[in-house]
Amino acid sequence: MRLILLGAPGAGKGTVAKRLTAIDGSVQISTGDILRAAVKAGTELGKKAEAAMKAGELVSDDLIMGIMGERLLEADCKNGFLLDGFPRTIPQAEALKGLLAKLGIELDFAVNLDVPRDVILDRLTTRRTCVECGAIYNVKSNPPKVEGKCDACGGAVVQRDDETEEAISKRLDVFNAQTSPLVDFYGKEGMLLNVNATSSDAVVEAIQGKLAS
Ligand code: AMP
Repeated sequence: MRLILLGAPGAGKGTVAKRLTAIDGSVQISTGDILRAAVKAGTELGKKAEAAMKAGELVSDDLIMGIMGERLLEADCKNGFLLDGFPRTIPQAEALKGLLAKLGIELDFAVNLDVPRDVILDRLTTRRTCVECGAIYNVKSNPPKVEGKCDACGGAVVQRDDETEEAISKRLDVFNAQTSPLVDFYGKEGMLLNVNATSSDAVVEAIQGKLAS
């Protein structure tokens, strides 16, 4: 499958992507994970992205298109991919369309994971992430077996820098202003699936249903 996962921070894009990749061997491509790894490794890319990320703002379209232009050429994309957190602006969506046309790749559709703002806020303030493998936990509904330690790889499970209340509020404002117009964009392209994403089971089912139809 080749899908775009759209939705506010905390809508469940990463969780849904992990479940779908386990089903058919397609790969999850999260620009947020790529950027966090670059920041951690102290690369040029990481240095350029760090300040905007910490403030809950978007990094530049040019930087993101540079990353994605290379990433989509990697061999593991041949089995399909789930774009998680990309595109995030109309210029990114336009650039992606051009890039895919050039590569001769067709997307199945874009999925809009729709979740009420109060649910998002609750999820983000209670979310914890493994710094090593990116596994996602929740202090209330899905804590690691040993506090602060990843079940999968033993890495440290922490609250992300951009999951303070101030940064979360900024990220949601940025989402409303710059990313939510993509729902219309893909609607007009005739390739949008809207899903109530309060439960990830319902999202996975809706996506599988549409892929099979
Ligand atoms: P995420 O993990 O997807 O919430 O991304 C974390 C942060 O990385 C965002 O708040 C942005 O600062 C940056 N980021 C991730 N993906 C993009 C993108 N497609 N365009 C611009 N900035 C991005």
